[in-house]
Amino acid sequence: MRRTIIAANWKMNNLTGEVKNFFAEFGDTAVNSENEVVIAPAYPYIALASALSAGKNVTIAAQDVYPKAEGAFTGMVGGKMLADLGVKAVIIGHSERRRIFGEPNELIREKVKFVQENGLHLIFCVGETLPERENGSMFDVLKEQIYSAFDDNLTLAPEKITVAYEPVWAIGTGVTATPEQAAEMHTFIRRILKERYGYEDSRILYGGSVKPENIQGLMANEDIDGALVGGASLKASSFMKLVNFQAVK
Ligand code: PEP
Repeated sequence: MRRTIIAANWKMNNLTGEVKNFFAEFGDTAVNSENEVVIAPAYPYIALASALSAGKNVTIAAQDVYPKAEGAFTGMVGGKMLADLGVKAVIIGHSERRRIFGEPNELIREKVKFVQENGLHLIFCVGETLPERENGSMFDVLKEQIYSAFDDNLTLAPEKITVAYEPVWAIGTGVTATPEQAAEMHTFIRRILKERYGYEDSRILYGGSVKPENIQGLMANEDIDGALVGGASLKASSFMKLVNFQAVK
């Protein structure tokens, strides 16, 4: 049985006061939920979020990592810093990193390796753009993203390898994949994980304009094990609804 993950990606949002308000309101929501709760604040707020969520069943994640322990890498945050801050999971390959910062598959592969070497839970993002969906190449795009990161590069147990399917056209746009579109892609990813890597127990999350109003429909499919949420995770009131949701498969 794969446990549902509800993960928040705050991106470059939520300042000190907002982080404090969030956790004050969020309280014991994760303790009382049957879902696994992950929150990824921006780097400067990780320590605060860790402190405010201590003992509350929240896994604090980083939105990225530079794949070195420490050293002369101006502007970067590496493995030792994440460990020092109590980070237990890292998002890698988010489409904003691929697209805005030009992260190539080779660097993403290195990061995937590094996250595993450091024993952290990997949340690995894949997804096609709108033109790629329209020209029907979305399956090939996903294959390339997954193969280039995972082939001969998976060392952690399946439970610590999570894939987030995030169609780029659905991120932050208010447009959501239909449950059928999401299910088709998740089943495709599930088959790759099982047949190519022998990984049956990895979770596959859907991301792209998930909200309290649409989570139930999206999560109904057997192959959808939770959500990676941007906009609707910023305020505790809406994230709490997502964390409290119970999947009916
Ligand atoms: C994301 O960026 O991971 C995401 C899913 O964002 P949103 O929920 O805002 O579409």
